[in-house]
Amino acid sequence: MNNPLAYLSEQIEAWKQAGTYQRLRELESACAPVSIVDHKEVINLASNNYLGLANHPKLVEAAIDATRKYGAGTGAVRTISGTMDLHMELERRIAAFKNVEACVVFQSGFTANAGTVSAILSPEDHIISDELNHASIIDGCRLSRARIHVFPHRDASAAAGKLDELQSESGRKLLITDGVFSMDGDIAPLAQLVEVAERYGAIMMIDDAHASGVLGRNGRGTVDHFNLHGRVHIQVGTLSKAVGVLGGYVCGSRDFIDYLYHRARPFLFSTSHPPAVVGACMAAFEIMQNEPERIATLWSNTAHFKKSLQQSGFNTGASETPITPIMVGEAKVAHQFSRALFEEGLFATGIGYPTVPQGKARVRTIVTATHTVEQLDRAVEILARVARRMNILS
Ligand SMILES: *Cc1c(COP(=O)(O)O)cnc(C)c1O
Repeated sequence: MNNPLAYLSEQIEAWKQAGTYQRLRELESACAPVSIVDHKEVINLASNNYLGLANHPKLVEAAIDATRKYGAGTGAVRTISGTMDLHMELERRIAAFKNVEACVVFQSGFTANAGTVSAILSPEDHIISDELNHASIIDGCRLSRARIHVFPHRDASAAAGKLDELQSESGRKLLITDGVFSMDGDIAPLAQLVEVAERYGAIMMIDDAHASGVLGRNGRGTVDHFNLHGRVHIQVGTLSKAVGVLGGYVCGSRDFIDYLYHRARPFLFSTSHPPAVVGACMAAFEIMQNEPERIATLWSNTAHFKKSLQQSGFNTGASETPITPIMVGEAKVAHQFSRALFEEGLFATGIGYPTVPQGKARVRTIVTATHTVEQLDRAVEILARVARRMNILS
């Protein structure tokens, strides 16, 4: 019998030949600085659990409490009968935290970006987008069917140039950027971008997935970091990374959020978060408010780890945040390096095309507030030893 899906098997075989095929690794423990993965104890530099909240007892307890009171699921989408008082409380809490009028929580950061951009723009509109923006932004842009104008990474004057060319065009303009770029760990030049957006009357939107809980006072994000309150119309954040649970949120004016309640498709057509998720998120914001020392430790760990990597001779790219790429060039080498590190007790992901451009493959590391300095020193020792063996370091 002819198998109409045979082309997929051929593609998989090609990935195996190229050395870029990846088997899923399985955690047999909670996500922690040292995790059990594929039956092996490894230092985990592969998670986004920046503040160590994913397995925090207070979050676990809050999830259980909310489950006992409200049940395991919500039974409907938000606009039908799936909005519990818990959901509204979380949105109010985040809006206050971010110093904005209102907030809506989505099932994930991905749906927050994709659902928002596609809801507010139409085919006659224009999007000015950093070339390294996240896939969920790109998908949202495509879903909107607006014209997409990509500008070189972090180049605010190039963004201004695009908007200048579009001045005579009708249609709305959206200037959109990641706050912290997920593969490189560098920060958007938000002050310059805001100025450009203001000059051309564009909507300014930022995706703070990797800045939430990391940048700004108590982890309020990039807008707070650069003190640009009131000048960014749309702020997206995630509850899946530093916050330690799952979800995405969008912050802005009351009417903008109301509009999303009526038009954002993931909000209208996909069931709301289970109570456990909402309860755990509330507990996470409580901790972020009361324990700013976690973020301080995240940053001191970051500085220590980066300095040790650089002293060992690694190329860590343009990173300014806890995301530190170790640049190796070819995707095949990145994946081999990652597998060899794992055998030596270090979990760090190899990343190649199409997630990053061809020739810019890397092993990405993310330190957290809960790693000890000893664990980080041991990680650098493993990285250097394996890299020398593989001729990545001379
Ligand atoms: C991870 C990520 C997202 C998606 O967030 P989830 O909550 O995991 O869906 C969106 N944008 C950026 C920049 C990210 O890194």
